[in-house]
Amino acid sequence: MDEPDRPLFRPAEADFRWRDVELLAYKQDHAAPFRDITRQVLFHDPALECELRYFEMAARGFSTLERHRHMHAVTILRGNGCCLVGDRVFDVAPRDLVTIPPWTWHQFKADKNEPMGFLCMVNADRDRPVLPTDKEMAELRSNPAIARFLDL
Ligand code: MN
Repeated sequence: MDEPDRPLFRPAEADFRWRDVELLAYKQDHAAPFRDITRQVLFHDPALECELRYFEMAARGFSTLERHRHMHAVTILRGNGCCLVGDRVFDVAPRDLVTIPPWTWHQFKADKNEPMGFLCMVNADRDRPVLPTDKEMAELRSNPAIARFLDL
């Protein structure tokens, strides 16, 4: 079998960019709500069963509130913010680790003053995220801590 052409070394560049890594839109699917967020795919290889991506949201940016069968393993790299994981809300800072279990609602939000960026490891073969229905959103909002997070 032909081996893919793998980059063996790609140096870090300024502003949380990496050489030969393209800066992409967060999602192709613009039906999902999000704000001011970019994506770089750092590791994607047919021999790996996971991918490592770097997401960065501008100040006040946020990822889509969603859930799915696959998991995420997140390492914060820059900036501060908070995240929702299930019915818990966590403040996050550089080098913090966040686990998103299967079928767990999750969302990341950057603080208002600075960008926040994180590494996200994910299954290469994965299902599509689903968004909360109006009923599920109402259930989430019935938890005051979650309502506070959603209104940030
Ligand atoms: Mn997700």
